[in-house]
Formats: sequence, C-alpha cells, structure tokens
Amino acid sequence: MSAAAMVAGIPGAGPQESDSVTIISIFPVERYHELQLGQFADGSQLDTDGNPYPAGTPMGGFRKFRLDPATRASHRALRVEGGLKWIPDFSQVGPDEPTAGITPIWQSAKMVADGLVHKWTRHTLGVTGSPGVEVLKHEDIEVDDTGNPKVDSSGNLKPSRQCIARMRKGQEVYAQSCVERANGLHVQGKTTAITDLDRKMAEWLYGSAVSSLGWVEKPEFQETKKCLACRRDILGSALRCQHCSADLPRWCLDNGVDASGDPAVTAAIERLRAREPVSPEAEAAKIRAIESKPLSHRTKAEMKELVAHRLDNPEE
Ligand SMILES: [Zn+2]
Repeated sequence: MSAAAMVAGIPGAGPQESDSVTIISIFPVERYHELQLGQFADGSQLDTDGNPYPAGTPMGGFRKFRLDPATRASHRALRVEGGLKWIPDFSQVGPDEPTAGITPIWQSAKMVADGLVHKWTRHTLGVTGSPGVEVLKHEDIEVDDTGNPKVDSSGNLKPSRQCIARMRKGQEVYAQSCVERANGLHVQGKTTAITDLDRKMAEWLYGSAVSSLGWVEKPEFQETKKCLACRRDILGSALRCQHCSADLPRWCLDNGVDASGDPAVTAAIERLRAREPVSPEAEAAKIRAIESKPLSHRTKAEMKELVAHRLDNPEE
C-alpha cells in the first residue's frame, strides 16, 4: 500500500510530510518528553480479539523523545517522524450524539520537532542567548564532496561545523546569563535558589575551571542531632557538645548510655573500645594463633604484632 493511499482522508497527511527531521542538541542537560502521537497500522497491530487492524488504520499511541546531555565537545541528534494527533471532533454532536468524538490530524515531522524544541527551550524565554536545541535546517546539514548529506554512525544527519559554532555562540550567551544570575544569588546568600541547570551551564561554559566559582559545589546538608548529655541541638557529626562540652563517646561509656541512635558517637565508641587494653590471656591466645601459622601465611600486621610482643616480653 502506498503512503498516499495509507493517509487518505486524514487532514494534512501526505507522503511529503511523513519525512523525518533531526533535532540537534548541545545542551548539557537531558531533554525528555512524551507525546500522545499515533501512527497508521502497518498490519502488525492486533485488536483485543487478536485480529490485525487493516494496514492504514489510524491508531492512537504514545512516543517518547529523549536527548542525552551533551558535553562541551559533542552534540546529540534525535530523529523525529510525523504522527497522528487525535483532537475532539464536534461535527457529529447533535440531539442523538451529545458527546464529541475524536478524530486524527496528521502532524508533520517538522511540526512535531518544532513543538519539542519549543517545549525544551521555553523556560529560557526572557533571557539572553539561546539554549542549544534546534531543528536541523536544510542549509545546516553537512554534505560530502558530491553534495550528499553526511550521516553519523546512528544514521542521523550531521550538522555542519558552522551550525554547531553558531549554536555554541548562542548557548555561551545563555550560559553566561545563568552564571551571572547564580553569582548574584550567591552574593546575596541565596545559594539555595541556584539551580542544577545553573551549575550544569557553568560546567559547560568553564569546564574544569568551574571549581573557582564558589557556588558550583552543592552545599552539603548539615544534619543536627540532640546532645546525648544535655539534649540541646548540635551538629550531626559532633563528638563533643558545644553547649555542655561533654565528650560524648566517653560520657556514654562512663554513664552506661545507649548511643545507638547517634551513628557518629557509636562509631567513636567502637574506636575507643578497640583501643582499650586487652587482657594478658587474650593477648597470649592471639600470639599463639599467629605462631601456629606457617611463616608464609602470616600477614605483615601479624608479624609486626609478633615482633612487638616479643620486644615487650623478652623473658618468654
Ligand atoms: Zn550537651
């Protein structure tokens, strides 16, 4: 069945519109969108009774569109094809048919792609520059010596060097505006208002030099806890209370207080216990265990321990 026959009766449909277009991105953040977009049955789709829909039947459906984050040196490409958009149809509404039906309208690849690019760049309206996501225009396609379009390993059309350079220039201005905004927030102490997008744009703009910006590292959330001794708020990692100056691991050991609700103090108590002197019997048993091993099976730490033991107990 020809493409023209398949799309018969669908407004706007035609073989020329069903061509694909390519979206190019140099944006360092993933772009994703899901659209309600149908297609004509190709004979492989089955109805609930297991019978195939005749080829050319307009079908509903969803399509996922994704562009991975681009690095400074790379771009991403996404091929987009046309599809069917189902819209309410009021033409049959009357006394016998009170509700509107839905009817398919053909969306060309260009229309779908333009919609995606608008969706992915509109949050930047009102700022200078342009985020680097656009529909690849005919004149921006890289061609070989014979004038044929070049494709990458995934079969996507390649943008020309000039096209990427122009997109970079636009995105640099945009990234600069993100950095300026974030710098302003940082100076005002409003670091929490700085977004991940600001950070990604700064990284894209400055590469490894970005660490010189004071706000690029996300501030770590500082947890607090109640001091086990005086119940006042202290830093989650604290081992000594800033209010009552209790040495918390020691205080818990001395007072028999359960510190299991405080991971920092629990770990410190374990370290203290490990340092506690062991009994002479336990020490002797450990040394005997090391001595019973063949020389080649003893670890460096065990050998050290053995030497230390013999130096401490020369009479043995
Ligand atoms: Zn305290």
